Amino acid sequence: MLARDVVATRALPGFDNSAMDGYAVRAADTETANTETPVVLPVAEDIPAGRTDGPPLEAGTAHRIMTGAALPNGADAVVPVELTDGGTTSVAIHQAPRLGQHVRRAGEDISAGAVALRRGQVLGAPHLALLSALGYATAPVIPPIRTIVLSTGSELVAPGQPLRRGEIYESNGIMLATAVREAGGEAAQLRFVSDDPGEFLHTLRNRAPEADLIITSGGVSAGAYEVVKDSLAQHGVEFLKVAMQPGMPQGCGVFENTPIVTLPGNPVSALVSFEVFIRPALRRAMGLPSVSRPVIKAELTEPVRSPAGKRQFRRGVLDRGRGTVKPIGPPASHHLRWLASANCLVDVPEGSTDLNAGDAVTVWDLESD
Ligand code: AMP
Ligand code: MG
Repeated sequence: MLARDVVATRALPGFDNSAMDGYAVRAADTETANTETPVVLPVAEDIPAGRTDGPPLEAGTAHRIMTGAALPNGADAVVPVELTDGGTTSVAIHQAPRLGQHVRRAGEDISAGAVALRRGQVLGAPHLALLSALGYATAPVIPPIRTIVLSTGSELVAPGQPLRRGEIYESNGIMLATAVREAGGEAAQLRFVSDDPGEFLHTLRNRAPEADLIITSGGVSAGAYEVVKDSLAQHGVEFLKVAMQPGMPQGCGVFENTPIVTLPGNPVSALVSFEVFIRPALRRAMGLPSVSRPVIKAELTEPVRSPAGKRQFRRGVLDRGRGTVKPIGPPASHHLRWLASANCLVDVPEGSTDLNAGDAVTVWDLESD
């Protein structure tokens, strides 16, 4: 994201140039040209794009010119090659050009001194192209937040490796790292660790100094072997229960000067928690626009049950055209397939336990910023 306004130090285009492959002429020399009685001019120069010596155009002559090549002084129109015989020593012009035809004027895109891009602009493909076209090799930016993502669990195995009974493939790391990147941040996906506090703390200590934010998953609930909770409760991290489903067990704090958020391990809980707690904070901290997902009202296509006293986030498929939302999959937090088919979260407030088809609900649109 740009830290300051960027001013065009030069105009774009920087010089009058040809918009077509053809012939640079003086319009006055060719005003009688038509198919029956073409105007024939000697071709005095050949001007490919990039020719820098700029020979002027003498009256009564033409220069063969390519797209993007500087228009010679004296020329005031370009005749496209398709309207000529394409000659290289002399050229027959079959149609009279208008004055200024197919000429790109210096400064018609942006003039020198104009603000090209505003502070706060997120630099996507066209913005980087504009900066380069203006000659900027570097630009002042607010750097993205650097996040490290660390999954925990002795049952985890890297995809691609063989699995034994009781083991599962690790999937939160790539999910959360990608979610961070999609939110505009930088993410390093660390190799997951087992439920051994020594291994966990060793990895965190090694990698935390390079990060602005640590995100862990797993090991924060109420069982035994809760590696994150057991290791960090003494290190300034607060563990608490949030009245939401999924995503009840949460933790956050500062680990050795680096902010940390510890998400629950169930994949759906982890991603919903990311959406609710981390994504808005990340975007705000980076000064990005649209901190929250667009929130819209939609009509339920089927009933939804939600536990009393908990704010429930159900996966849904939003039909933007119809203004309806279909809740998909059960409320349980391990159903990755449904998570992967959803395009929204249905936000069911704490007080609502039974919603009917046709009821209006609040929906978080996950496909827009
Ligand atoms: P935990 O929060 O560590 O108790 O984990 C809750 C559930 O999520 C368990 O079924 C774990 O196996 C699963 N889980 C935890 N971490 C991951 C992960 N990184 N990838 C896939 N599943 C996970
Ligand atoms: Mg675990």
